[in-house]
Amino acid sequence: MCCGRCDGLMVERPCWQRDWPDVSRGWLKGLYMWVCINCGNRLDAVIAANRAQQAERTERIRHDVLWQECKRQLRLLQEEVAYESTA
Ligand SMILES: [Zn+2]
Repeated sequence: MCCGRCDGLMVERPCWQRDWPDVSRGWLKGLYMWVCINCGNRLDAVIAANRAQQAERTERIRHDVLWQECKRQLRLLQEEVAYESTA
């Protein structure tokens, strides 16, 4: 999976390696999130939702761009999870 910020490589990390471990325990039973090894960008469902909400409060155009990117990245993530669960 490519980073939405820098196109770097995003790797799956267990949540217990995170700096703030209680942010998004609900995502995939709270086991994994995605971290960009290039820029440090992090993504899971809660982070994506929080970014979208923050953008909505500030600027609608920016919100739309962010939300589309969140949805794009989540779609990629879901495809990857679905693929891995069948492997
Ligand atoms: Zn990145």
